[in-house]
Amino acid sequence: MEFCEPAEVVAVTRVTPSMIRVRLRALGEWTWYADGRGDERVDIAFPWPGETRADVTYFNREHAGESLNEPTPPWRHYTMRAVHDRGREFDVEFVVHGDGVASTWAERAEPGHVLGIFLGSTVSHAYHSPPNDAQWQLLVADATGLPGLARIVEELPEGVPVQAIVEVPTAADRRVIETRGDVDWTWIIGPGGRESALPTAVEGIALPETPGYAWVACESAAARSIRTHLRRRHSQPRDRHRAIGFWTAGKIGHDGRGTD
Ligand SMILES: Cc1cc2nc3c(=O)[nH]c(=O)nc-3n(C[C@H](O)[C@H](O)[C@H](O)COP(=O)(O)OP(=O)(O)OC[C@H]3O[C@@H](n4cnc5c(N)ncnc54)[C@H](O)[C@@H]3O)c2cc1C
Repeated sequence: MEFCEPAEVVAVTRVTPSMIRVRLRALGEWTWYADGRGDERVDIAFPWPGETRADVTYFNREHAGESLNEPTPPWRHYTMRAVHDRGREFDVEFVVHGDGVASTWAERAEPGHVLGIFLGSTVSHAYHSPPNDAQWQLLVADATGLPGLARIVEELPEGVPVQAIVEVPTAADRRVIETRGDVDWTWIIGPGGRESALPTAVEGIALPETPGYAWVACESAAARSIRTHLRRRHSQPRDRHRAIGFWTAGKIGHDGRGTD
């Protein structure tokens, strides 16, 4: 298996006005991880603007220690929305935000385009990790966090009480997500980014006194603000919340993302 493997687009679906789902199929013998769950992360290499195939060989040469005096092809962090056929096919959902290599690629994506999928580890990586004694969960996301939140909700065990707060750009971006959990949904129609309504929404809710778990995935400043609120107002210890900056308003690319 190479560090960066090719995957071919087999279907493109406009799920809602701001979200495009792309079904990808592994090219060659490799498969995506079998142990994946929830908000498992996938790092993706994209074609240069106007092109249809990502340059996977660049990343494999670089990983092999070759010194490359060439511009790094674009790559970004995404979430594995669903995995099919034992990892031979998978879905990724792209927010269309009008700018950026990944977003503009998704808008022109067609079957036959080839992306690069990074396989840098032997196991998949998910951020959502509630302690075993968590009696409730708070899940907060903007549009970029929605694919992960949706899969987390779909995989919930029977009856787990969850408060889900999601900010999307338009009313038509709201989704119906199947679940065995007991999910109380709040959909906010808002601009996101620097103007995100998520911090105010979280400040406005009461959390149970019993042990729980909070997961937050949205623009970095909003995630930071919610994290501070959970720590200061609710004295939530570090193993009881995870607030991840999925993108930073005004910044391009992947630097510093996915950290908390
Ligand atoms: C672990 C992880 C998982 C993620 N999963 C997903 C996912 O499943 N789906 C998804 O769509 N995104 C996801 N993201 C976010 C995605 O990586 C970023 O939005 C990324 O910047 C998009 O790349 P781009 O090339 O479109 O824009 P960039 O070239 O990175 O940015 C161009 C401009 O657009 C702005 N921008 C970037 N994203 C947005 C946005 N969503 N809304 C408005 N402005 C934006 C930037 O601030 C910048 O000014 C995830 C991020 C992380 C860290």
